[in-house]
Amino acid sequence: MALLVSLWLAGVANWPLWRSLLSLPENGNGHGLLFATGFVLMLAALHVVLLTLFAWPRGIKVVAAVLLVPAAAAAHFMGSYGVVIDPTMMTNVLQTNFTETRDLLNGRLALSLLLIAALPLAWLWRLPLQRLPWRAQLGRNLAAAGAALAVLLAVLFLLFADLSSAMRNHKSLRYQINPLASFYSAAALVRQAQATPRLPPQPIGLGATLAARDAGAKPPLLLLVVGETARSDHFSLNGYARPTNPALAGLGVVSFRDVTACGTSTAASLPCMFSHLGREGFEARSREHENLLDLAWRAGLAVLWIDNQAGCKGLCDRVPVVKAGEGAPPALCSDGECLDEALLHGLDDRLSALAPERRARGVLLVMHQMGSHGPAYWRRSPASAKPFQPECETNALQQCDTQALINAYDNSIAYTDRVLAQAVGWLKTRRAEYDTTLLYVSDHGESLGEKGLYLHGLPYAVAPSEQTKVPMIAWSASAPRLQCLAGERDRPLRHDHLFHSVAGELGIQAPEYRAELDLFAPCRAP
Ligand SMILES: [Zn+2]
Repeated sequence: MALLVSLWLAGVANWPLWRSLLSLPENGNGHGLLFATGFVLMLAALHVVLLTLFAWPRGIKVVAAVLLVPAAAAAHFMGSYGVVIDPTMMTNVLQTNFTETRDLLNGRLALSLLLIAALPLAWLWRLPLQRLPWRAQLGRNLAAAGAALAVLLAVLFLLFADLSSAMRNHKSLRYQINPLASFYSAAALVRQAQATPRLPPQPIGLGATLAARDAGAKPPLLLLVVGETARSDHFSLNGYARPTNPALAGLGVVSFRDVTACGTSTAASLPCMFSHLGREGFEARSREHENLLDLAWRAGLAVLWIDNQAGCKGLCDRVPVVKAGEGAPPALCSDGECLDEALLHGLDDRLSALAPERRARGVLLVMHQMGSHGPAYWRRSPASAKPFQPECETNALQQCDTQALINAYDNSIAYTDRVLAQAVGWLKTRRAEYDTTLLYVSDHGESLGEKGLYLHGLPYAVAPSEQTKVPMIAWSASAPRLQCLAGERDRPLRHDHLFHSVAGELGIQAPEYRAELDLFAPCRAP
């Protein structure tokens, strides 16, 4: 039974891995086929070694199910969307919610679960088990494990050169080994969680102050819109050929064209975007720190996080938070999800509900968009905002015509354009009391079938630019500042700039602030 399950896992449940291996240019010949076959054998042998540990009458069938069910699900996601199951992807899996999950359920997932897990399990479940005395069973298991180990080592010896070069050159291959990558990544998260002491985050901005304002100068109101899954090259402001930004184009906004994200998924990008550490410092951190919102709060500003998504990944734990759907008209919300226009609903009331003494010093409003969250892109725009037709209306993306998929995605971008333009419109109504600024930046991009990849979340080192290049757009009530910022629009920027730009714009003086990462600094009046 251990042998059968292992062959099934290695041969069938790993079809996305075999497809990736065989599509590598260096494997496009007879030798490549031999290498892939050897790899199947090695994987099967490895699974036999593991399964023989559990090859006891009480354990084997349960363990087979524990391996086959995740393997069937992972095979579907890897095979359909080109994702891999590394620790970051496992974080995304663990942080997801009902509506996000619902967007991913489809017939192909059910088929994968049926064919790869349910059918073999149904067959296995009915197989009678032979009960041997435990010594005899142990002897058998050890013999099987020994034989499998011998096969594993023999193939490893023969293929070592190919194997080490494939694993070195294509690091994400290891995260396609199914289902072991899932278990490895889950274990890595547990280890990481245990290694990081459960301490409150390290405070930042202790002693932060606000720059003195000229007499009669208005307090700042900065609206930071955190975009979702928007890729830079689908914004007509950045040169995209389709008119995806008709509303913003008329408002004189500045679109920064070369902005690199900190991660390729929400869970990876958001904490890093709001951190003062920058990508490298954030990756290397030994403990958690407070973030930009805490800094603004500590400096005495009014802060509000308005969420239209699966939450703020812990960023907004210590500041006021409101759900976009609260009080929004029913037309904007259905099935537990809201269109992004809900973020703009009742903003005046939300603003006046914040503490007056804080508002007098300045306001940081953060809107966390639903944006272009996939794969159900067509759900991200209302019927009145779908200029690109026909739309792909299934989450089984590879079943759609590529153009229909891009249409649905571009409609979500065009809708974001409308939402941002309305946000600017609202900021204009508050100009009398506040010095208003809008800053929009997406958390990561998206693959739309390029190189056979869909969605996002590939390991950063191998992620294509479609997943890492993000739009960033600024608007200011001051025309000279906008003109100055326009001169900066081709400057290479990163998410690393976000913390310092927002802090600088709000006049926060803190030890963590670095002027060289403040994109507004060159355009601030001395
Ligand atoms: Zn995201």
